Amino acid sequence: MIPMSIEKNLAAISDDIRMAAHDFAREPGDVTLIAVSKKQPDSRIDEALAAGQRVFGENRVQEAQIRWAERRKIYPDLFLHLIGPLQTNKAADAVALFDVIETLDRPKLVGVLAKEMEKQDRWLPCFIQVNTGEEDQKAGVLPADLPELLFMARDAGLSVEGLMCIPPVDDASGVHFSFLKTLADKHGLAKLSMGMSADYKQAIAAGAHYVRVGSAVFGERLPA
Ligand SMILES: *Cc1c(COP(=O)(O)O)cnc(C)c1O
Repeated sequence: MIPMSIEKNLAAISDDIRMAAHDFAREPGDVTLIAVSKKQPDSRIDEALAAGQRVFGENRVQEAQIRWAERRKIYPDLFLHLIGPLQTNKAADAVALFDVIETLDRPKLVGVLAKEMEKQDRWLPCFIQVNTGEEDQKAGVLPADLPELLFMARDAGLSVEGLMCIPPVDDASGVHFSFLKTLADKHGLAKLSMGMSADYKQAIAAGAHYVRVGSAVFGERLPA
């Protein structure tokens, strides 16, 4: 078997992103690849860094702290996105470590994050996660509750840049991507975080600015 090369994976995905952006009349540079490094061995992270990748996504605060606290000092140009559910008792750590919070999804978190950002004087851009499939087990605000949450977030001084979604596994994701785009347009939100390894090209077609790609970059994740 030929050993997997993360550098090659990154190059191939970047090419795909560029081509998709071109095909769907997006500005070049309008789509950013977030390499999702959760549950990946350190050697793979370091390979991605050596290949020049600087934007990463993590879904757990503690795991991200362990992985990135020291690497941040070595790579000051890193950009870390929190893409997993945030518990209020981890908000302080999340604000200190991350550059973007993609998973704002409930009123309580609005208050806690605003307070923490003020305390640390670190006003991070946020995305609101929308549960587009209205799945019981999935995080994210229900579409019907988005306007109120957005109002609260803006009122609290949070900078809400856009919307994020994770479509249901069994659905065609294109429908959810288009729906998220419609919601964002309706509320004057400029950015969309959507698309993963299996569907990032479709997400770009539907207007994604950030695609969150894990296994296609790094290979299979370690078991939880
Ligand atoms: C794990 C994860 C991804 C990456 O998934 P892949 O299928 O490995 O690309 C993207 N977004 C979120 C929110 C995730 O938790």
